[in-house]
Formats: sequence, structure tokens, C-alpha cells
Amino acid sequence: MDCLFCKIIAGEIPSTKIYEDEYVYVFKDINPIAPIHYLLVPKIHIADANGITPENSHYIAKVFEVAAKIAEEENIPSYKIINNCGKDAGQTVFHIHFHLISGKRFKEHKNADI
Ligand code: AMP
Ligand code: ZN
Repeated sequence: MDCLFCKIIAGEIPSTKIYEDEYVYVFKDINPIAPIHYLLVPKIHIADANGITPENSHYIAKVFEVAAKIAEEENIPSYKIINNCGKDAGQTVFHIHFHLISGKRFKEHKNADI
């Protein structure tokens, strides 16, 4: 399958790895929008949030467990987790992923530009 994030998970394309376990791969975004900008990617090819099902949703739960673990270990007190679902929402890589961003002051909530 010609998927950028499947290739990164498989080690076929280099990445700056932050964390990995059986379910989740975490690496630095190549084009960060804040001092901390990680991508949390489940190790199963789900194209976007509409592909979450009762069979695969445990991978998504693991993503959030890992986010909490990283936040604790790296002393990140506040952060945003963002998922873009669909082109008009800003999704450019069609393997579901969650942006963990921190290290700057964000506007209060739900602003389109973050
Ligand atoms: P999205 O726009 O939500 O689909 O997010 C895709 C993200 O992947 C963007 O923030 C890109 O900067 C990032 N990205 C694209 N290619 C790479 C890569 N090779 N390594 C790390 N991050 C990447
Ligand atoms: Zn994939």
C-alpha cells in the first residue's frame, strides 16, 4: 500500500521517533507549528476518523493513553490533540493521525487556525 505513514511505521522512510509500542508510533512533525509538535499514529491503516469501528477503536484509545504518558514523561502540562478528518478539514495524509502540539500559548478554543 502506498501510504506515507505505513512506510514511516515500517522504517522505510526516516522519522524522528519519540515513542513506539505495539499499537502506536509517535514521531516529530516535519513542519512543526509549535515548539512541540508530534504525530501520534496507530499502527493500523485507517484512512481517517470515519474509518474507526468497534474492531479497531482500541488503537485510538491507545493513542490517547500514549499522549498522556508522553505528556507526563516530558513534563508537558498543557497541549492540544488535533485530528483533521477530510481534505477541507486540512487532512493531507490519509492514514489517521493525531497532532500533539504544545509549547506556545494557544487561543482559547475551536479557532480554525489553531
Ligand atoms: P494532516 O494535514 O492533518 O494530514 O497532517 C499531516 C502532517 O504530516 C503535516 O503536519 C505534515 O507536516 C506531516 N508530515 C508530512 N510528511 C512527513 C514526514 N515525512 N515526516 C514527518 N511529518 C510529516
Ligand atoms: Zn497507512
